[in-house]
Amino acid sequence: MTGDIPAFVAEQIAALSIDRERPLVLSDADEVLLQFAVPLERFLDEEGLYLELTSFRLAGNIKMKSTGKAVSQQAVAALIGEFFASKAGDCPAVPGASEALAKLSRWAEIIIVSNIPLDARQARADSLHALGMPYPLIANSGEKGPAIKAITAGHAAPVVFLDDLPQNIASVATHAAHVHRIHFVADPRLRPLLDQAEGAHARIDEWPEALEHIEAHFLAQGFAKGGLSRDGEK
Ligand SMILES: [Mg+2]
Repeated sequence: MTGDIPAFVAEQIAALSIDRERPLVLSDADEVLLQFAVPLERFLDEEGLYLELTSFRLAGNIKMKSTGKAVSQQAVAALIGEFFASKAGDCPAVPGASEALAKLSRWAEIIIVSNIPLDARQARADSLHALGMPYPLIANSGEKGPAIKAITAGHAAPVVFLDDLPQNIASVATHAAHVHRIHFVADPRLRPLLDQAEGAHARIDEWPEALEHIEAHFLAQGFAKGGLSRDGEK
């Protein structure tokens, strides 16, 4: 039901321990922090399939190499399930993502909110850690707005949300309107397939520019970069 959070998501949110006085960055993983299309194509190739990047959707665009015909919507769902089960820990980082988050983490809290099966959460958390992004990871299911609303309840500092999917941006606009929303599409081949999502404050597809934008947003809200990093470096 709209507005509800699955119990397993609510439990992960309840277990978060963050500083409510610091700015907060809530980031999607696939096509924002981690490449998705590239490892998916590699996986599909092994299955005798390919992804045709002519529109921003998987249904209808996963095709058989032998016939060029699209596989059924059911088969797409099964393939994505299999992909996350076997490859969730195997997605390369988006260029500049870990560096930008490391800089932000000196004065902001970071939480990664990813729509992946709960089973895949540990593999994904481990790989994010190995890629230099050791931040709390929430495995969400369905629309993201209700989860973002719950995570930000009582947060005293500004919040930024990044996602590639227009429906997630729209959901956060509906359920957590106070959150600053950036529409981010990492794969250069996917960018032209999507206009700026409705409900997004900005469309930014590169991390150096996103970093600048997020820092400027926090500074404009009166927050200073003065915090110490984990290693004590200014
Ligand atoms: Mg995504």
